Parts: sequence; C-alpha cells; structure tokens
Amino acid sequence: MNVKRVLIIEGLVNLLMIVTKLIVGIITGSAALTADALHSFTDLINNVVAFLAIRMSEKPADDDHHYGHQKFEQLAVFFLATLLFVVAIEVVIRAISRSSDVVEQNKVGLIVLVVAVVINLTLSLWERYWAKKLKSDLLHADASHTFSDVLTSVAAIVGWQLAALGLYWVDTLFALIVAVMIGVLAYRLFSKAVPILVDQSHFDHGVVKKSIKQLVNVTSVKKLRIRSMGKQHFADVTVAVEAKLSLLESHNIADQIENMLAQQFNIHDTTVHVEPDS
Ligand SMILES: [Zn+2]
Ligand SMILES: [Zn+2]
Repeated sequence: MNVKRVLIIEGLVNLLMIVTKLIVGIITGSAALTADALHSFTDLINNVVAFLAIRMSEKPADDDHHYGHQKFEQLAVFFLATLLFVVAIEVVIRAISRSSDVVEQNKVGLIVLVVAVVINLTLSLWERYWAKKLKSDLLHADASHTFSDVLTSVAAIVGWQLAALGLYWVDTLFALIVAVMIGVLAYRLFSKAVPILVDQSHFDHGVVKKSIKQLVNVTSVKKLRIRSMGKQHFADVTVAVEAKLSLLESHNIADQIENMLAQQFNIHDTTVHVEPDS
C-alpha cells in the first residue's frame, strides 16, 4: 500500500457515497441527504487535491526546484487545515443561528445518513492507520477531515432528535463542542505544516554544534543552519580549522562532518565551508 493508493480508495468510496446519497435523496425527497451528497463532493475534491499534491511532491529536484518538491505536500496539508478551520466556524455559526438546519424526518434518508457516518468513521480510522504506517502528513490531514465529517454528521443527526424533543440548548451545546474538536484537529494540522513551510528547525542547535565541535581538528563552529522538508534535512556548516592544515586534511574534516550529521542526525545533504582559524 502507498499514499496514492489509499487516496484512490478513499476517493472511490466518496464517489460511491455521492451517487448513493444523490439517488436516495432525490427519490425520497430528503433535503438533508442531497445537502450531504454535496458535502461528499467536496470530500472527493479534497482527495483529488491530496493525490495531485503527493504526485507533485514525489518529483525529484529539477531546474526550478533545486531542493525537490516535498513542500507541496505541506502546502496541501495547510490547505486542508484551512478548510477544516472554515468548517469549525461554520458549525459555530449554524449552532448559534440554527435557522438553516434541515430537520430530517425521512426515515430512509436518516438510515442512509447513519450508514454514511459508519462508513466515514471506518474510512477515517483506516486512513489514520496508513497515515501512521506510511508517515504521511497529508493522509493524516485527510483522515482528520473525514473524522470531522463524522463529528458534524453525528451532531446533525443527534441535533435533529433533540430538536424534535424540544431540547434546543443541548443541540447548540453539542454543536459547539463539535466545533471545538474540529478546531483542535485543524490546529494540529497547522502545527505540522507551518514549521516546515517556514523552515523551522526541529533540531537542537546546541547539540548538533557540540557534536561537530567534538570532531578532530575542528577548532570552532562559526555557523550552523539546518532546514527540513518533511523527512529530508539540509545543513550549512561553517567551521574554523588550524590554518596550517593541507587541502586534503581540510577536505577530510568536511567529509567527517557530513558523515557524522548523516549518521547521528539523519541529515543527508550538508554543505561545509572551511575557514582558517585566526
Ligand atoms: Zn468532508
Ligand atoms: Zn519543479
């Protein structure tokens, strides 16, 4: 299994749900079901965006993108997180105004909605499993969205039942809790994508510096910069060495630094600048 295959399966299930919800919605005249079909359509678009982003991010470095295309994945995660945040705000607005809520009274429509929730829950758990196994932030983002759909659907279905009983304030409270949960999901995605997009280092600068300084013949570390693109890390290092060392010896030091960073810190792309100690 790979990320793209997971997304294709997810997309196919969403397509199936769109068709089912639309057909049953039109036959039974359930407005809630037709509205939900429309939402499933946006889910399918999410899957397509994620798929294209993954395909883009897998491309090797080229003339336009010297460091590769991995950040396209984080960009897509950012996009999905933004959508999720919008959903959270929407849920809050709907909870407060509650005017646009369609109360489902159609039994067949309700059954289809409940089945769709179960399918979505299964999908999100399955996708989360693969997100962890394949270490994919984008799959994680898509799984979070699917899970948020489960939350909003449950909120809507329970809300209808409570509204029918006249318990409007419980309905509102329930929706607000769901909004907070979706907000947290969005925040988690942002906190994964943003550090990578803005080149935040997730290495302990002091520890890496110390490890370089401990190498033979390195007098001092003058500059150290590390940036990451997902699982790939890049380092720029400037070290001072004794001025009398030969070119060959200096080159060996640079090699040592590169090897040490690769082995100890998983940084496989290092540029070393060697300066004479003064
Ligand atoms: Zn959705
Ligand atoms: Zn390119």
